[in-house]
Amino acid sequence: MSVNAQKKSVARVNMIPCYWFSTARLTMTIKIDNKIVGYSVNKPDPNAEPGSLPAAEVIQMHEALKRPDKLIGSTYKLKTPEHVSAHAMYITINDIVLNEGTNHEIRRPFEVFINSKNMDHFQWIVALTRIMSAVFRKGGDVTFLVEELRSVFDPSGGYWNKGKLQQSLVAEIGDVIEEHLIGIGMLRDPNQDPDTTTAEYIEMKKEEYLSNSTETVDENSGYPASAKVCKKCSVKAAVLMDGCSTCLNCGDSKCG
Ligand SMILES: [Zn+2]
Repeated sequence: MSVNAQKKSVARVNMIPCYWFSTARLTMTIKIDNKIVGYSVNKPDPNAEPGSLPAAEVIQMHEALKRPDKLIGSTYKLKTPEHVSAHAMYITINDIVLNEGTNHEIRRPFEVFINSKNMDHFQWIVALTRIMSAVFRKGGDVTFLVEELRSVFDPSGGYWNKGKLQQSLVAEIGDVIEEHLIGIGMLRDPNQDPDTTTAEYIEMKKEEYLSNSTETVDENSGYPASAKVCKKCSVKAAVLMDGCSTCLNCGDSKCG
């Protein structure tokens, strides 16, 4: 790097947006003693070596990002019991890849669409997907959407789907969003990566329960057929062991 190029990269520090610092975990304080009488924006150095991109160009999700012509995504089929919706819902979440090919490559959700033959709630679904897409494009931590959707209760009661009590169709859409965010690395998978002591404890309890009982495991849920709904995680995985209700999913235990 020439002396001139070095000078330029030092000058550029002043113009780095603050989010860059948080990404790079870099703390730097510049004290300005004199009055600021003017400023200029650094242009990319035409003489810079190709491939040596300045670190300041790490792109984070923000609403001014233009949608590329092509996005990659996943479509999830959501089949609820007949009385909730006669037709399956297809939930498509498309992602944008930022800083592709660099150490800062990240995949962030960009838009969501929901399709179904069932048009009963069409206008609300369109509204929901548009608002969710807008939140995705704002950037930042969008994982709160999962809990927001999950806390929607259907006044006519929830329903069972794949061994889990769903509070509402909206809550189940929250589960799909969670699955997607786990898939792209924005959320931790609670089933695969709990702290090992909890995971080991649950595994031990499960073996202990099944070895002391003739009960079969429910094919859909993977938990004993007589298991009750756990008050903590809402999964039908709570069994009675030594007088205590023990959840074979989250490890929650209530005695007496
Ligand atoms: Zn539980």
